Amino acid sequence: MNMHGFSVIRTRELPELSAKLIEYEHEKTGAKLCRLETDDMNAAFSIAFKTIPSDSTGVFHILEHSVLCGSDKYPVKEPFVELLKTSVQTFLNAMTFADKTVYPVSSRNGKDLLNLMDVYLDAVFNPAIYEHPEIFRQEGWRYEDGGLSGVVLNEMRGNYASPGAVLSREMNKLLFPNNCYRFVSGGDPDEIPNLTYEAFIAAHRKFYHPSNAYITLVGRADTDAALKKLDGYLSAFDCREDRFDIPVQEPTAPHSVTAYYEAESEDDGALVSFASLLSTYDDRLKNYAVSVLANYLTGDDDAPLKRAVLEKELAQDLSVSIHDGIKQTWVSVDAMNADAERIDELRSTIRETLESLVKDGIDRERLAACFSRYSFAMRDNESGDMPQSVSFALDMLDTWIYGGDPADGICVDHVLDELAARLDTWYFAKLLREVFLDNDAFQTVVLLPSSETEKKEFVFSNDEIAVLSSETESMYAWQETPDTEDALATIPKLTLSDLADKPEPLVYSVKNVNGANMLTHVTGSKNALVHAHFNAADTEGGDLYKLSLMARMLGSMGTKAHSRSKLPLSVKNTFGRLDFYPTAFPGKSAEGCKLMLTAAFACLPENVRNAFELLREILLSTDWTDVSMLRDALEQMEFGARFAVAADGSRYAMLRAGARVTSYTAANELMGGISFNEKVKELAAYDDCALTELLAEMKALAERFFTRNRLTLSVSETVCEDAANGFIASLPENKETLPEEGRYRFEGKPYEEIPIVSDVGFVGAAGSLESMGMEYSGSMQVLAGILNYTHLWSEIRLAGGAYGCGFYAGANGDLFFHTFRDPDPENSIGVFKGSGDFIREYMKDRPELTGYILSSVSAMDPLRTPEGKLSSAEARFFTGKTNTDAELRYRELLGTKNADVLALAPMLDFFADKAATVILKREY
Ligand SMILES: [Zn+2]
Repeated sequence: MNMHGFSVIRTRELPELSAKLIEYEHEKTGAKLCRLETDDMNAAFSIAFKTIPSDSTGVFHILEHSVLCGSDKYPVKEPFVELLKTSVQTFLNAMTFADKTVYPVSSRNGKDLLNLMDVYLDAVFNPAIYEHPEIFRQEGWRYEDGGLSGVVLNEMRGNYASPGAVLSREMNKLLFPNNCYRFVSGGDPDEIPNLTYEAFIAAHRKFYHPSNAYITLVGRADTDAALKKLDGYLSAFDCREDRFDIPVQEPTAPHSVTAYYEAESEDDGALVSFASLLSTYDDRLKNYAVSVLANYLTGDDDAPLKRAVLEKELAQDLSVSIHDGIKQTWVSVDAMNADAERIDELRSTIRETLESLVKDGIDRERLAACFSRYSFAMRDNESGDMPQSVSFALDMLDTWIYGGDPADGICVDHVLDELAARLDTWYFAKLLREVFLDNDAFQTVVLLPSSETEKKEFVFSNDEIAVLSSETESMYAWQETPDTEDALATIPKLTLSDLADKPEPLVYSVKNVNGANMLTHVTGSKNALVHAHFNAADTEGGDLYKLSLMARMLGSMGTKAHSRSKLPLSVKNTFGRLDFYPTAFPGKSAEGCKLMLTAAFACLPENVRNAFELLREILLSTDWTDVSMLRDALEQMEFGARFAVAADGSRYAMLRAGARVTSYTAANELMGGISFNEKVKELAAYDDCALTELLAEMKALAERFFTRNRLTLSVSETVCEDAANGFIASLPENKETLPEEGRYRFEGKPYEEIPIVSDVGFVGAAGSLESMGMEYSGSMQVLAGILNYTHLWSEIRLAGGAYGCGFYAGANGDLFFHTFRDPDPENSIGVFKGSGDFIREYMKDRPELTGYILSSVSAMDPLRTPEGKLSSAEARFFTGKTNTDAELRYRELLGTKNADVLALAPMLDFFADKAATVILKREY
């Protein structure tokens, strides 16, 4: 049967997912389509191409950005941004992988999804890059002020501030000398400037063709309308025979390579990685089994391989990882902050430990615990930031583009069952020997710290500079030419009548059980989800770091009933996920905040009773005397923190700035920001005596906090009520009177510059509505949309070359500006300050606000995972907000008029004038 040029290749029910998978092929071009029918209202569409790099110029990454900069049917400079302005999308992105480029979108609105599909299809097949080389200069690289700039160039410069990126680049070269995986698909900053416009165009011609396209449609969507739309684009092409196969890399002789990462001090430790090819993408039994072994060997602080290396002080952390998502999988053993003088000893210790494991036999109890944790994770339907339907689409591609079965990427049950049956056999021990011991193809990369890593200088002749400079000028001229009204009118829009009349309510009940609050939520989760929040608002500001540290230690130190080597096993057997963390929620005013120490877990519903039992044991009887465990944790945290700031600079800068404005942000900064990192560095140098004292203080905090009257227990509908009540009743009672809110202040000047080791910087600027005597309204979302997609985007991203920037107004009264991977932070601050004037000017033309309103709907009415429903409802509960408040904000948003936005300009002026500002950048 032929449907709009497509014929069905195969149809299957997938009972494991309650889904149906239909595979189609487009008859004229050979384009492939997977239609996964599920009952998910949030449907996803994606189109992917195999993109096999033949150098590290990042051509596919630059194409990924560039095809979204205008097309035949949508001749505006930024259809991607125009879509962000006018759609109710729940996911809109594009991603470059090692061997493919994917364009996924999702929406809860069927008409919207078809609109999004149309813009994406026109973008990939008919992009404006052929007529506008300016796009290549904007997104790729250009010559400017004697140096080089460009969005992808700056994005990748930021990426290589992380030693992990340098390590994986060097390892890929060793492992895959003969196929495409030796190249950096995203682009090496030293190679990006070698890319010419001609090669860029040639890559598009070669790879962006329907015969090389893999299309997915997931969830509740109109298949007929989608196929018809697809056929409209695909039929313009003929069939091509190119298959772009990736040759198999045979193992090569072992090599050792030394490379450098940029560090503050040359005394910093080394990163050492040993890695070997493992198997192919379709050998799932082996890939899964090695993942279980990885957890067995290094998955917790008492795992045997990790312990052996830590005990000899050869490194501060050790992990075994499986690298998949490409045609050939590989496995690595990575040592962090290793002693560079003792690498041979590190290697022999790893070998000897593994040999004795094989000889003495694998511990059955540990293996079962690691398997249990792994199978929970593989079956978990909590998809985090990415909607489930998008994540299904990406998972299918993992096998499908190599000619494998797309269902293999999403159906895991039979492989896990087969693996479970092998727990009692010699299978795992044999595999351990085969992969790690009888394998002489392990490659080695040693990454040493250097305070001055060499940066490649690009030298151009005067003639070249003249040409490049004029190209940069024409890029600016092109950027400054506004899109015509006619062009803008091509972007498909919904109307306000397409929207739901109120946001999806959060459904939960509150009651008092034995002196504790209990919240029960309707989440749709198949697992049992539990968040136990203990009020910690009586913690002094100077003690906040202890809360954070304590959370880090809970669940890994031993307890009365479980030694520290046994506890991680029970934890893995019982919980699918278990985390402890402190959380601060906004208070009634900026001066105060709610502060909680939270234990959060997910488990199979039938395990919930055991889970509560074990949680109680951890909370009440942790053995707070293990100094070596605390020291290991501090050292690992200290090493991680060195790179965390440069990797996630916007978050750190915003926290640091916001800490001067509200109590809750001050608390979050002290518990997880730069202040906390500094504290960790200080503590890592403490002697045993001082650490023993610190542990005793944590013990005292634990005894104080984990009582019934401090508890708010928040559970999904899948949690057995008796088990929850039993947990509450089992906690000690302590009828002290507690403050409802803590008061935390961060003392600091309103402007601060913090040096970091990175070629690109970050800015965070914070203010609060309260300090301006204003209240939040839904129209602030429209203001944020305008600033983000016009003023900030064009001045900071397009002209300034920063990878990211934004303005944020939160319902609790927070205001933030930020930039991400920003080559010129001072300039960006100037742009922030000009926002009030910009809005006054912009509103003069009385712009149509419908698009901005539509695009803010997903912020006001976000798509929530089951965990997301729990967290959002808790935040409402703790801040005293209700569904009615959310509906009111939503109506304010929908009713926003020009005058409402204009009235917010003085807020921006005041904010620009009074904002607390933090810059992270290299010190010169
Ligand atoms: Zn990018």
